[in-house]
Amino acid sequence: MLTSSEVASRLSRFPKFEDSYIGLPYAPRMPKHMVKETREAVAIARKFSEEVVKPLAIEIDRKTHEDPGYMPWDLVETANRWGFYTMWVPRMFGGKGFNMPSMSYFAEEIASACVGIMNVIGVHYLAVAGLLTSANPRLAKKVLREVVEGERSGKPCILALATTEPGAGTDVEEVDLVDKGKVTCQAKPVKGGYIVNGTKVFISMGHLSNWTVLSAYEDTRNPADTTIGLMVKTGTKGFSFGTHENKMGQRACPASVLIFEDCFIPEEDVLFSAALAKRFTNKPFRDVAQRYIDYVVSATRPGVCAFGVGVARGAFEAALKHASTTEVGGSLLINNEWVQCHLAEMYKNVVLGRLAYVEANHANSHRGLYQLLQIKPVYYYLKYMPQVYFDRVVSPTLDLEFTAKLMGRLYYDRPKIDDQRCCSGWASLAKFAGTDIGVRNCQMSIEIMGHKGLRQDAGVEKMLRDIKLLQIYEGTNQLNRLNAFKCLIAPQVPQAQVFEE
Ligand SMILES: Cc1cc2nc3c(=O)[nH]c(=O)nc-3n(C[C@H](O)[C@H](O)[C@H](O)COP(=O)(O)OP(=O)(O)OC[C@H]3O[C@@H](n4cnc5c(N)ncnc54)[C@H](O)[C@@H]3O)c2cc1C
Repeated sequence: MLTSSEVASRLSRFPKFEDSYIGLPYAPRMPKHMVKETREAVAIARKFSEEVVKPLAIEIDRKTHEDPGYMPWDLVETANRWGFYTMWVPRMFGGKGFNMPSMSYFAEEIASACVGIMNVIGVHYLAVAGLLTSANPRLAKKVLREVVEGERSGKPCILALATTEPGAGTDVEEVDLVDKGKVTCQAKPVKGGYIVNGTKVFISMGHLSNWTVLSAYEDTRNPADTTIGLMVKTGTKGFSFGTHENKMGQRACPASVLIFEDCFIPEEDVLFSAALAKRFTNKPFRDVAQRYIDYVVSATRPGVCAFGVGVARGAFEAALKHASTTEVGGSLLINNEWVQCHLAEMYKNVVLGRLAYVEANHANSHRGLYQLLQIKPVYYYLKYMPQVYFDRVVSPTLDLEFTAKLMGRLYYDRPKIDDQRCCSGWASLAKFAGTDIGVRNCQMSIEIMGHKGLRQDAGVEKMLRDIKLLQIYEGTNQLNRLNAFKCLIAPQVPQAQVFEE
């Protein structure tokens, strides 16, 4: 137990710039071309938004009410044609290799028109993040080459990620919690692979995906030490789909039930496990598993923040248009002071939400997942070497055991715990900030619009239904608050215990 003066001395360090866990110092080191590339991503998102998303957003929402079995196959084909499923696939796997932070700006743009449609694209990258951060380049290559081929042939190949179970949602998002959850999805080792039994629920795009990144447990009574990641191809014997949820919002993006009954997965499709981790680190597997989760969510939660900011912006734009064109009591609504204050508040929310995802992405670039990729010479090498070089020279090396070990050491053995906390904490902070802001702006927008805001064709009631879901997935906002506390505040206060209850 620390004395109060020791606690005071630790806390007094907190305000120092070097001690605050932020990524801002990265900004001056950023390769200049990243800005140009991000503009390109935003420009194509804007075009897609105007030509495809806006005309479809309300129509698909209506369609799913009339026909709850509706699946957005056409939308997936359109997004595939526009090249969106390979945009953030690295060039060494045959993709377009856009820098990862640019995805947040892209997401904000499309989410401002419809966050459900954005998730039809975005959730693929949740799974891609699970694939790429596993230090298993051979398997990543096998699956991502199919995604690239799917774009070339016009037959989309997309990915889903399945962790949530009927009795364990929040619990599977933290290694410290998973032993308390009621996990049942078991992967039993057998000769040549694993036999999987269990059910996953609320899996975005499950029915439409060709591959699923599946988390299971070798021993469901000791899940934290026996977590295993498997790649499961749709059509594999023993893997089927149940219903998909008739849910409140984001109805363009189905959430599926996945059923595994004596489903055999060969050894070669094991993505991540205690045995594989031993090849590159001697750290306890719990720590390795927590780092894996942190890598995935540090990459994806800033994106979900951008989803929320997009909705916040859509709600602001609808309110602004309404207030500037509607007369109340003989004068334009926009000339009321309370409306001007509301609009200023909503505008501020959008700007602050953006700063949150930018800063969380900077943290990844400065101290996390993107650190190596965004060192200037590495970035320009990956950007400008001809594709034939990646296909002929780099691609064969991805199958080597040496490459997997090297990636594992770089990503799991060397990085410091403070850096892991910085990225995870900022990602959580951005996630709950951006999505709470989205809810707030939808509410304010409807206040300004009155009953017109409640009509389906005005679009804002749909935004409010859509945004609520963002407070729940990618870790509920409560979990993300706890994780921000654990990563950013608790390290200053040794007697604080998180996830201990
Ligand atoms: C639209 C949508 C899409 C989704 N897509 C996917 C997907 O693609 N893949 C996937 O695997 N999952 C997906 N999910 C599931 C999502 O990740 C879970 O819903 C989420 O993790 C919360 O789990 P839960 O719903 O079981 O809630 P619970 O874990 O049951 O939580 C209920 C409440 O208790 C609180 N709580 C729980 N544990 C704690 C704790 N230890 N401390 C404090 N509070 C706690 C929560 O914050 C929440 O308020 C999706 C969910 C939605 C809504």
